Amino acid sequence: MLNREYTEMLREKDIIFEIFAHATKRRAEVGPERVYDFSLGNPSVPAPEAVAESIRRITAETDALALHSYSPAGGVPQVREAVAADLNRRYGTDYEGKHIFMTCGAAAALAHALRAVSNPGDEILAFAPCFSEYGPYVSGAGCNLTLVSADTESFQINFAALQSALSPRTAAVLLNSPNNPSGVVCSTGTVKKLAEVLRAKAAEYGHTIYLISDEPYRDIVFNGVDSPYIAKLYPHTLTCYSFSKSLSLPGERIGYVAVNPACDRAQGILELLPQISRTTGHNGAPSLLQRVAADCCALTSDLTVYERNKELLYSALLSYGYHCVEPGGTFYMFPRSPEADAAAFCRRAMEKDLLLVPGDGFGCPGHFRIAYCVPTEAVERSLPVFKALAEEYGL
Ligand code: PLP
Repeated sequence: MLNREYTEMLREKDIIFEIFAHATKRRAEVGPERVYDFSLGNPSVPAPEAVAESIRRITAETDALALHSYSPAGGVPQVREAVAADLNRRYGTDYEGKHIFMTCGAAAALAHALRAVSNPGDEILAFAPCFSEYGPYVSGAGCNLTLVSADTESFQINFAALQSALSPRTAAVLLNSPNNPSGVVCSTGTVKKLAEVLRAKAAEYGHTIYLISDEPYRDIVFNGVDSPYIAKLYPHTLTCYSFSKSLSLPGERIGYVAVNPACDRAQGILELLPQISRTTGHNGAPSLLQRVAADCCALTSDLTVYERNKELLYSALLSYGYHCVEPGGTFYMFPRSPEADAAAFCRRAMEKDLLLVPGDGFGCPGHFRIAYCVPTEAVERSLPVFKALAEEYGL
């Protein structure tokens, strides 16, 4: 008998599948430059040349048998040390190699972090709007996801909603800053206040509430935006990072969990992580890519296009009458939908070959996501379509 849970997931096909099918069909009919596809979070700039150089150097210099053999569960020791040293240099932290657990991207980092600090039936809190995959990530760990409703005026944390969502069953809080889909970065003030709330509730409940900080966009922060290193402000933090976005390597599946040395039961968590790999089928991160990450962890792709696109799009949308909280980073923007039903709005945009994603799947109806990880010319070409839509809605 086929698995019921996954069979049920197959039924959940939503507007994303419609968008994908529409984009494929229309690209063939009218040409790719006439389809304004803002639906996917795939980086639009190439990895830096240093990545290719690193691959060439490593494959030339390392014995092939050793290079391609199984990696130790937590990662190659020198790689873990290089990542720890880079974090310490950037953020003044105290990681050692043993605190870094190399994974296949942020998705696997989250799978490990969630399982390490929860038991089946526990609650995990996340803040709307959030990445739509948090549902399956949390249910895969046997836990229940509770979404804290959004503060749609700022997309910082809605503390009143957080206070009422926390319960003695809350094992961990999952925070994503810079955020997919809003692009908003949690300020130092917001994270400090979150830390205070979690400390107070932990004292009341008699157990630590862990913070799982999902940070694949940590390096995509725009000029002048306050972007604290979250583990510095709350000790019980497991930081999940990925090179998918910063180095434009999403297909290479490389990232890590960094367990804050000051975290409650840090040593125990570190001991559990390899055991978790045994149950998730995560048999170590790719060996070549780990070494590339060690070489390139201090670098990024040329991320300037994302800020350029944000400036262009954000000011144009405001001038057309849309309401939007200004993103502080990432390559996403999350304006308010001109009609309450964001899926209906996105279908209307789709008729003009403008591909947007409704906010419902991110736990925040009434908004839509624009993934502006596209060439700037594509943003420019799309502006008349955003304008025409605004006019149709009388904005
Ligand atoms: N978390 C967030 C918020 C994301 O947007 C993504 C990917 O888009 C992931 C996690 C997964 O990242 P990765 O490709 O490194 O697994």
